Amino acid sequence: MDSFGALLSDEERAWQQSVRAFVEREVVPSAARWDEQGRYPRPLLERLGELDWLGTAFPEECGGSGGGPVEYAILCAELARGSAGVALGVYVHTALASAAILHLGSDAQRRELLPAALRGERVGCWAYAEAGAGADAASVATRARRDGDGWVLDGAKLYITNAPIADFAVIVAATAPERGLKGLSLFAVERDAPGLAIGPPMRKLGMGASEMAEIVLDGCRVGAGSLLGTEDAGFLEAMEVLTLGRIAAASFACGLGEAARRAALEHTRERVQFGGPLTRKQFVRFTHADLQTRLEAAWQLTLAAARLAAAGKPHSEQASMAKLLASETCTWACERGLHLHGAHGYMRESAAQRFYRDCKVLELGEGTSEVQRETIARGMGI
Ligand SMILES: Cc1cc2nc3c(=O)[nH]c(=O)nc-3n(C[C@H](O)[C@H](O)[C@H](O)COP(=O)(O)OP(=O)(O)OC[C@H]3O[C@@H](n4cnc5c(N)ncnc54)[C@H](O)[C@@H]3O)c2cc1C
Repeated sequence: MDSFGALLSDEERAWQQSVRAFVEREVVPSAARWDEQGRYPRPLLERLGELDWLGTAFPEECGGSGGGPVEYAILCAELARGSAGVALGVYVHTALASAAILHLGSDAQRRELLPAALRGERVGCWAYAEAGAGADAASVATRARRDGDGWVLDGAKLYITNAPIADFAVIVAATAPERGLKGLSLFAVERDAPGLAIGPPMRKLGMGASEMAEIVLDGCRVGAGSLLGTEDAGFLEAMEVLTLGRIAAASFACGLGEAARRAALEHTRERVQFGGPLTRKQFVRFTHADLQTRLEAAWQLTLAAARLAAAGKPHSEQASMAKLLASETCTWACERGLHLHGAHGYMRESAAQRFYRDCKVLELGEGTSEVQRETIARGMGI
């Protein structure tokens, strides 16, 4: 049974197959090496730009290639099947940094920033988190104050994916700190802005093919044209429109979980114990049946959220439910996948250990599982 293909239209299915073939050919063979080296494969991003795939779900007049949330979900899932680190870098660049410019930027900002970003020539990062600001966005301490006709930013952003390779950053800063969430604005800042410094690469448990660093803002001066969206409301506006990020994270989790499932299936088909392949054992067969069932359920919920988004219908709670179910299912699938490999799965040469190290962040980033549960409960009116 081919996974994640049911309920796709012929066109969507063809798109899935072409991304899958590309990933098998150009991502899978190098994924372990990129992970070990701890470097993002920048030429691959440019290749995705050349193919016009970074512009999926972006309008053509902004340098995008059309398509919508469903095509974007398929792209994320397939990339994550090959390398979760690669998918993380693509998702931060497109669904967060570039999407913030698309939805909140002025025409001039879109024209200036988006075409090169969607060609993969310039890379973006999304700089929200800080030492004191994680689940609680109201505690963002980075300040932006008016200075002449521009702004001056001071603060430090932590755990920023793509920062070591980024050409621009979308930075969340407090413009009216006394107003909490209602005083947060967004700024698009160039890497070479005076007063902006990128720290050394941070070492992580997984996602080795993505790079992360701190961004320090020390009297960082930017022009008036850096402000994205409405002053004091930019962050709340971004939370309204960046639902594609949650759908992307859910798709990403489905793809990674699927990679773990397939590796475990291959291993248990070939591994002989007690005179036959492990797939003859009931425990192994039932684990595979559960893996297939739960991953397919997570994918169908993700696809449903993407279809609602594509139809322009409210989908915030569906996006949260998809992200919650997919990320927790992915963690479970990667753990079970390693378990089915036995000791071999624990060894560095096994892809199972990479999947196991990669998965956990999907429950933390793009709103932790608890943040998603809060959103879902609020939607239920409780
Ligand atoms: C690999 C990786 C990549 C990342 N990339 C980026 C990036 O590109 N840009 C960026 O801005 N950030 C990035 N982050 C950081 C990410 O945004 C934060 O991890 C996330 O916001 C959660 O914040 P925190 O880690 O400080 O957790 P905390 O807020 O300290 O939470 C710790 C735990 O407590 C729980 N918790 C907190 N508050 C509540 C509550 N009210 N009720 C119930 N439970 C609660 C949380 O759910 C979590 O389980 C990345 C993190 C990782 C690990």
